[in-house]
Amino acid sequence: MLTVFFKFIFPHYGRILFVFLLISCKVTALQSVSNSEFDNFVKKAEILINSDPKAALQLLNSYQGDVKSQPITSQVNFYRIQSEAYSDQSLYRFSKASAEIGLELTKQMNSPSILIAELAYTKGFAMESLGDLDGAFELYQNGLDVARSMENQEFIARGLINIGATYYLKKNYKQSLIVLNQALQIANSINDEALMGDITSELGILYGYIGEEDQANQFFQRSYQHFKKAGKDNYALNSLHNVAINHANEKRYDQAIEVFRVLESEIQPNTSNEFISGVYRSLAWALLNKEEADTENAYRYILLAGEYVKEVEQHLVQLQYLIDKAYILEKMKRYEEALVNLEQVEQLLQYKAEDIYDTSEVNILYLKSKLYYELGRYQAAYQVQKQYFAKAISYRESRDTSEIDELRLQYESEATARQKDILKKKQNLQNFQLQEVTQEADNRKMLAGFLAICILILAWFLHRIIKGQKSLVKASQTDSLTGVINRRRLLEVGEQYFDEAKLLEHPLSICMIDVDFFKKINDQYGHKIGDSTLQEIAMYGQAQMRESDVFGRIGGEEFIALLPNTANIEAVEVAQRIRESIERARWQTSEIATLTVSIGVSTLNQQSSCDFADLLKAADKQLLQAKCAGRNQVV
Ligand code: GH3
Ligand code: MG
Ligand code: MG
Repeated sequence: MLTVFFKFIFPHYGRILFVFLLISCKVTALQSVSNSEFDNFVKKAEILINSDPKAALQLLNSYQGDVKSQPITSQVNFYRIQSEAYSDQSLYRFSKASAEIGLELTKQMNSPSILIAELAYTKGFAMESLGDLDGAFELYQNGLDVARSMENQEFIARGLINIGATYYLKKNYKQSLIVLNQALQIANSINDEALMGDITSELGILYGYIGEEDQANQFFQRSYQHFKKAGKDNYALNSLHNVAINHANEKRYDQAIEVFRVLESEIQPNTSNEFISGVYRSLAWALLNKEEADTENAYRYILLAGEYVKEVEQHLVQLQYLIDKAYILEKMKRYEEALVNLEQVEQLLQYKAEDIYDTSEVNILYLKSKLYYELGRYQAAYQVQKQYFAKAISYRESRDTSEIDELRLQYESEATARQKDILKKKQNLQNFQLQEVTQEADNRKMLAGFLAICILILAWFLHRIIKGQKSLVKASQTDSLTGVINRRRLLEVGEQYFDEAKLLEHPLSICMIDVDFFKKINDQYGHKIGDSTLQEIAMYGQAQMRESDVFGRIGGEEFIALLPNTANIEAVEVAQRIRESIERARWQTSEIATLTVSIGVSTLNQQSSCDFADLLKAADKQLLQAKCAGRNQVV
């Protein structure tokens, strides 16, 4: 089961870049400084950011008191670098605040400056990291406008990278691909290795999101090389991390673990906490999912990750850590602890930005239901399971991959087994209580009073069973009489086929089949024979279907055939075959000499804006015509 979820939780390649601490720096604060001195220190801080953002921040903050007396450009530059230093330390709220002050100050500048674009990007990135995608998008767009007006190619490309990333985070993958490729063209034309490293890394993430794992890996490898050439070893390491995650996504856990171990060995005492926690989390997952799960070490690494997560402000990181930990605890059968973790997750979710954590929520509900079940809290398990289905469906509607289908299918079969089990356990419990109660009643010779209680329990018990069975039947997808799929499922599959046909511009046809004069069969031979005849009709109809076709009972003595990839002429042929096979059929009840059906066929018209219900209505209309025209025919 975990492997399915793995796909959901795993694919967050690190877009957030990180910084190593290599140099330590002595910071001295001065009483008052000239402008040239101030600019020099700011420049020093800017260089220091790449190696030691903490020291850079200390340096900058020690000059905070001198900022106001500096010329406006120096002030703006100060806040830009301060904002970047905060961002590199994952302190996004501070980063955003510094960038805001900087942007406000730019209003006092006499001429446009690329500093405005830089500040807009930094503020946007802080907002993106804090979960405000729309706000970030707007800022990136503003920054891009400034870069364009100044014809600064590097910053045009940087703006496009940021916008491309917001697009994929908003699941607009196509637009993301277009924008990132525009950025790549610019980077190529100015031959900027660092820029190319950034873009290929983003493209890798994008391809990972859309499930093109091989492409993703190629881009991460390319990005690794570009960063190496640009001398940005730390960024290169981030790309390597993404390569490892990619291996894991493709279930090549041993390869993934190998790369993770390299990464682990390269962690410096001052590598960013977010990055370290990411490496440990991913490593834990790989250990848990590999062929012979190494649960102990997985747990060890998730605890290690936890040590670093504490320091990270981004709450998505904390959230994912807690979910991962809950999963590992569940695997270790430490259910209570896992539940506690999930409760913390739910508290964090209260602050969520819209539609960012969809998959997390689906995962949480799944796990929670499982935990309640394991802990014997069946009622709660059932409630959460219902929520899970609702979430999973709404998530599925917002995302066109088959992952959730796979997940749901697996879950549904598990849930059915679980419900049966719950029923059985309850039954045993109730039987036991019943016996006990009866015995007690005997002993105290108060049989009459207790009998009432027994009846009450029995009634309640029966009520539960009936209710349970009802929901089991409801959950199933086949028609209990004929064994073909039922109305609910027909409509579901129909909608799905319809959407696919529209999207891919493929034909789709429907045959609506109604048995002629079926009332007479019931009237003459009784309902029982009517029922068994319906079973035979379903069998004949089903026999005419190809593999991708679907045949089901929509109600009473009416059936539907869904024919994907089938044009109207072919559908009419299929319908004729069904009609003929029933006309020629020999029936179990020998008194029935012949039985016929009328069939209405409708086919999707790509030009019209109809929906699946309209297509059904059209088939129904054709069916009516077939009836009016004398029955036993196809219209
Ligand atoms: P026609 O369609 O040609 O107009 O005539 P019909 O006699 O088939 O008319 P209609 O479709 O309106 O009636 C359908 C009948 O099918 C009504 C009901 O008695 C019968 N029927 C519906 N569901 C079942 C079922 O599950 N079992 C049995 N035995 N009969 C059913
Ligand atoms: Mg009918
Ligand atoms: Mg009929």
